[in-house]
Amino acid sequence: MIGPFVHDALLQEKSGDRVRCLTCERRCLLGPGATGWCRTRANVDGRLVTLIHGNVSSLSANPIEKKPLFHFYPGSKALTAGSWGCNFGCPWCQNWDISKSPPRKGRHMTPEDFVTTALAWQCQGTSISFNEPTLSLEWSLSVFRLAREKDLYNTYVTNGYMTNRALDLLAAAGLDAVNVDIKGDAEAVHKYCKGVEAEKVWRNCQHAKERGVHVEITTLVIPGVNHDREILRAIARRIRQQIGPDTPWHLSGYHPAYRYHVPPTPLSALETGWQVGREEGLNFVYLGNVVGHRLEDTYCPACGQLLIERRGLEVVQNRLQDSSCPACGLGIPIMFSDQVSDHSPPP
Ligand code: SF4
Repeated sequence: MIGPFVHDALLQEKSGDRVRCLTCERRCLLGPGATGWCRTRANVDGRLVTLIHGNVSSLSANPIEKKPLFHFYPGSKALTAGSWGCNFGCPWCQNWDISKSPPRKGRHMTPEDFVTTALAWQCQGTSISFNEPTLSLEWSLSVFRLAREKDLYNTYVTNGYMTNRALDLLAAAGLDAVNVDIKGDAEAVHKYCKGVEAEKVWRNCQHAKERGVHVEITTLVIPGVNHDREILRAIARRIRQQIGPDTPWHLSGYHPAYRYHVPPTPLSALETGWQVGREEGLNFVYLGNVVGHRLEDTYCPACGQLLIERRGLEVVQNRLQDSSCPACGLGIPIMFSDQVSDHSPPP
């Protein structure tokens, strides 16, 4: 066990000499000395502790477009930290080098170190990402509170499997935006992600939105898992019905990794997904991992006018006028980077 990274877990319930973790919906019950499914939390003398508090495996200042968050302060930068481990078992994990091993020794950063670095690197916000951020719940809460005091925004890139209590705490601490990965239908999610209940992820998307958190959805389109037109249609329909038609939906191309080695997603499958998303009434559907494609750009859902032009992770042109389409005047729900300096905590 790695000393500086051990910290009391916030959400736990004692049951004799066992302890239940209430951080994510796996709700592991840990006997004496045991670690949970994610291997980042352990029962030490009847108390649940996290083993990765402030244990940073990866650190970089990223364009917010990389999360991807396209409707949240476009053109801004977020200082992004990852740690170790995951609570899902997806065999295609694109970050398997940090997510699939027990915690290793990373760079130790206190929440103060992280926020100070964000300011020094001229970032407008924070992001906890790369591995599953929910596993860093306690550290995230401290980072978010400090970041809010410095007028920085806070984001998570997540599989959305935290408990309701964890999500409430994150929202109260200053979580501003999430990108949630919707991986497929209930059967595929249960099978490939190892016992995960997709309904809980949908519940959290809706709950986050109700708590005022900006929500964008990503689906990594994977041949043999979710590339079927009707599966994508069902996801799009549910996004519209449950989170709203203005929710950005990112369809991202998969590349073989870890234990899943079918060929990469053909561009045609992503374009089919885009069409299905629009047919189902989603106003903003984007392709990802296809640099230079016109469907990385934002168009007016009413008149088709090009509104925001992107090249990869860079915003090259923003034609919106007062948050509206310059051609037809439709209001476009995007928060802009020139508002970042005015970003203040909610009451
Ligand atoms: S955070 Fe880890 S230990 Fe806790 S319930 Fe989830 S998988 Fe289990």
